[in-house]
Amino acid sequence: AGEKGTATERSFVMIKPDGVSRQLVGKIISRFEERGYKLVAIKSLTPSPALAKEHYSDLSARPFYGGLVKYITSGTPVVAMVWEGKDVIKQGRRIVGATNPLDAHPGSIRGQYSVSVGRNLIHASDAFDSATKEIGLWFAPEELSEYEVGQISKPV
Ligand code: ADP
Ligand code: MG
Repeated sequence: AGEKGTATERSFVMIKPDGVSRQLVGKIISRFEERGYKLVAIKSLTPSPALAKEHYSDLSARPFYGGLVKYITSGTPVVAMVWEGKDVIKQGRRIVGATNPLDAHPGSIRGQYSVSVGRNLIHASDAFDSATKEIGLWFAPEELSEYEVGQISKPV
């Protein structure tokens, strides 16, 4: 996931099916863009049950695991992304807000747009190790782009 704590740190962020069905994709992407983070990968897909189960494997003993996997794989797509920039893992979690929207800061995505923990719109990696695992799980290396962000000021 890039180098931790540097401009190349990377986080895996996924707009869940409720975010897509509620047509919040653009607004959610804008939060990361406007903060200054760089989009290095993006795709829309309905994940296979195997992918969803592996993504949430740490939660396999939890009572909501089955329902969560079923929802993520239901057929309404997710938008899977990799965002890059300084401290993007920790900052991404702050932009997203607490897991339960009741605890989420009103300025966060979950705090502004959601009311239910089972429909909290978005996932973001919670640590460097999970970011590395999740980016590798959802994207092939060649799907990650390297480019410069910023204003184009030179004649082309
Ligand atoms: P986060 O997404 O904030 O990292 P977790 O990793 O703890 O949160 O849980 C993963 C996802 O599982 C949550 O985003 C939420 O959609 C779902 N989830 C967590 N806790 C519950 C719960 N008590 N009931 C229903 N769904 C839950
Ligand atoms: Mg989590």
